Amino acid sequence: MNSKYYNRRNFIKVGALGVSSATLSISSASDSSGSSTKPIIISTWDHGAMANNVGFKLLTDGADAIDAVQQGVMVVESDPKVRTVGVGGYPDRDGVVTLDACLMKGDGSCGSVAFLRDIENPVAVARKVMDETPHVMLVGAGAKKFALDNGFEEKELLTEASKRDYENWLKRTDYMPPINIENHDTISTLAIDQNGVIAGACTTSGASYKYHGRVGDSPIIGAGLFVDQEAGGACATGWGEEVIRTAGSAMVVEMMRNGKSPQEACEAIVKRINERRKGKEIQIGFLAMDTKGNFGAYSLRKGFTYAVKHKDEDAIKAATYLY
Ligand code: ASP
Repeated sequence: MNSKYYNRRNFIKVGALGVSSATLSISSASDSSGSSTKPIIISTWDHGAMANNVGFKLLTDGADAIDAVQQGVMVVESDPKVRTVGVGGYPDRDGVVTLDACLMKGDGSCGSVAFLRDIENPVAVARKVMDETPHVMLVGAGAKKFALDNGFEEKELLTEASKRDYENWLKRTDYMPPINIENHDTISTLAIDQNGVIAGACTTSGASYKYHGRVGDSPIIGAGLFVDQEAGGACATGWGEEVIRTAGSAMVVEMMRNGKSPQEACEAIVKRINERRKGKEIQIGFLAMDTKGNFGAYSLRKGFTYAVKHKDEDAIKAATYLY
C-alpha cells in the first residue's frame, strides 16, 4: 500500500478519502452489539474506509449486503493510488498486473476470478460469474474472455508509478517475491444489511513481484473469504500461501460457529499459522464478523489496520497482533 497516501499511524485526511469522522484508534479490536449496529460494514486496511463509505451509504439506502461490498471494493479497485488492488496494482515478476477477486453471500452464493488481466474491476466479473453461470471460479484467459463477452472493457492496469517501482525492483532483487506490510494489502470487506443478510468481497493484485501465474488466497472461497449466514464471515490479507494451507477464512467462520467470538477466532487462526510457520518475516491479518455484527481482527505482526462503519462509529482501528 502507498504509505505516503494512506498513513496508518495518523488521522485520515477528511478530503482525501471523503471520510467525515474516521479516526485511527489504537484500541484493540472491539465488539459491537448486533441489532443496534445493523447495517454495518468493515474492511481491511486504511483504504477500507473508502469502501466503507460507499458501501455504508448503499446499506442505509436499503441495498443488499452483496451490492454494498461489491460497490465498496470497486472504488478501491479503480483508484490507481492504491498500489495493491486493481488499477495501479504492483505487477508480477514479469511486469504483468494480474488480479484476483471473489465475493460471497451468507446463503452460499459465490463467484470468483483469478489471474485476470486488463480488467479494471475483477470483483464485478466475479459477480457475473456468481449471478450468470453455474460455476464459482473462472481464471486467466477464460475469465478475461468471459469479462469481454459480458461487456467489460480492456484497460491498461500498469500505471507509470507501478512500472517505475517494478523497474527499480528488477535492479535490486534476488528475484524472490518479498512480502511485508508495504507491498501487499488486499481489500476485503464484510457487511450486514438492514435485513440481517451478511456478505463479503475480496480483491487484490496479490503479492507484488509474484511468479507469473501465481494465485493467492484472495479469490479462493474458504481461504481469502468465507461467509455463512448461520455463523458469520471472515476474510484475510497477507501472505496468501499460509492462508490457503489453513483454509483460513473458512476455519475462522467454523470456529465462530463452534462458539468462539470473532476476535477469538481471528487470534486462533493466526496462532495456528504461526505454529506451523513461525513466520515473523511475513504478515497475515484476519477480519471477522458474526451475524449479530460483533467483529474482531488480529494479525501476525504489528501494522494491520481495518476500517469500521455503522451508525455509531466511523473509524480506522489498529488490530491486535502476535509480534
Ligand atoms: N493475500 C494476498 C495474496 O496473497 C495479498 C495480500 O493480502 O496482501 O495474494
